Amino acid sequence: MTRSGKDYVEGLRDNRRVFVDGEYVSDVAAHPAFKGAVESIARVYDLAHDPANAAEMTFPSPTTGAPVNLSYLIPRGEDDLRRRRVALRKTAEATFGLMGRGPEHVAGFLAGWAGRSDVFAAGEQRFADNVTKFYEYVRDNDLYCSYAIVPPQIDRSKPAHQQADPHLYAGVKEEREDGIVVAGAQMLGTGAAISDYLVLSCIVPLQPGDEDQAISVAVPIGAEGLKIYSRRSYAEAATSVYDYPLATRFDETDSLIVFDDVFVPWDKVFVFRDRQITSDQWSRTPAHLLGNNQAQIRFSVKLDLLAGLALRVARMNGSDKFPPVRGVLGELAAHAAMVSGLVYAQEQNCELDEKGVAWPGREECYATMTLQSDFYPKLLHLVRDLVGGGVIQLPSSAADFENPEARADFERYVQSPGHPTIERVKLLKLVWDLVGSEFASRHQQYEMFYAGAPFLVKSRMSQIYDFARAEALVDGALAGYDLGGRTETVQA
Ligand SMILES: Cc1cc2nc3c(=O)[nH]c(=O)nc-3n(C[C@H](O)[C@H](O)[C@H](O)COP(=O)(O)OP(=O)(O)OC[C@H]3O[C@@H](n4cnc5c(N)ncnc54)[C@H](O)[C@@H]3O)c2cc1C
Repeated sequence: MTRSGKDYVEGLRDNRRVFVDGEYVSDVAAHPAFKGAVESIARVYDLAHDPANAAEMTFPSPTTGAPVNLSYLIPRGEDDLRRRRVALRKTAEATFGLMGRGPEHVAGFLAGWAGRSDVFAAGEQRFADNVTKFYEYVRDNDLYCSYAIVPPQIDRSKPAHQQADPHLYAGVKEEREDGIVVAGAQMLGTGAAISDYLVLSCIVPLQPGDEDQAISVAVPIGAEGLKIYSRRSYAEAATSVYDYPLATRFDETDSLIVFDDVFVPWDKVFVFRDRQITSDQWSRTPAHLLGNNQAQIRFSVKLDLLAGLALRVARMNGSDKFPPVRGVLGELAAHAAMVSGLVYAQEQNCELDEKGVAWPGREECYATMTLQSDFYPKLLHLVRDLVGGGVIQLPSSAADFENPEARADFERYVQSPGHPTIERVKLLKLVWDLVGSEFASRHQQYEMFYAGAPFLVKSRMSQIYDFARAEALVDGALAGYDLGGRTETVQA
């Protein structure tokens, strides 16, 4: 059954241990560092919970028949991927594509795992059953899962077991009859502070000897011993919504997750000390594709926002008809259209596996991931180029308008035809929060790294792309001529 925003907020009042600015936060929903993000996620919950959106954003739970969020759908074909995209696009539009790790992100991973629980059965059947039961539980209760699947940067030159302390990277410290004890840390739990469950696993390759880190488990955020160290909150530092319209509402926060001897009962263990299955869960299930397909649907919304803002500023400044400005707008539009197109292509080129689960088109999904780390910073640069100093020549904060002398000067000098001061400043402060503020800068880092270090993503693309198709063309081209000058058109 879908939850309302109110249900979600009430669920956050547990024993979670979230730290920010040296303070232990007992109620994230009320704390200025997290309040804005919690309210935004609550609105996302309300959206799917609204009966008017049920047909578009939910499907009947196969176990209870009640409507559940479409982000949890295990797709069985192109139509399911299309339905899923429509729901995920609407979800992303509610936050303008600015919350990368809302409830719908890890939902896709869990659907991918549950669709291929047989991969987990290679360990033991009970692990596959745990995956299925956990997936059904979070789906039917509409829970918000975040994840931490990358070890912290301590010494990247050494595998987990060769670090100064074998329990620096989160892993098994003790095996008990009723479960396992996990110790160590993992990065970088985006949204963890405001979610219900954390999935802990490892996506980076593990070496022989790293078996303790070769796990997949789920823990409630309020679990004893789980500590969430949030980075600085941009929402808390913001002067007002008018000054920082995005940071105040969509700062999902990212955290270092520390497992201080966290007990995990066996029924929440999906992979146990198995390097092969830890790796297979990403590559032999559609989890990574479904999760990243969602991420790209979200990304395409953000690119539309970026393009729309660029046009609005150009129009306001009277530069929108200048040919070079049209060129910049065209470049922004082309990237937005390309990402949308690659999302559509993932549906069209999906593949059904032997269990009847639809995997979004691989080449298109990884192509987007590969390119976005390079082009997102470039698009920010294009917008910065377009807006010039306008985003800097602004009142220091909304409080300036309360001073009559300052307000009079701003009303005279900071305005454009058809755009009185308050509107002009509003638009430019929105642009700055998307391309230049600390929030914007974190977003740049996010789009570059959320799918992994760019060099790794690129190298994965080189394994996925159909080079046989490309090489066949090379063979054809080489076969068409020889040293003697013979040329012919070769049949493909
Ligand atoms: C804003 C943000 C949010 C995130 N949210 C989450 C989340 O919710 N959950 C989660 O699990 N993770 C999250 N991540 C973490 C993300 O998955 C990692 O940042 C990513 O996997 C890359 O790992 P790393 O940051 O440790 O970089 P590293 O692996 O340390 O790489 C950094 C750079 O070092 C160089 N380098 C490193 N190793 C090599 C090598 N072997 N060969 C050549 N060059 C190398 C490359 O230049 C590389 O780009 C988030 C990251 C960011 C920035």
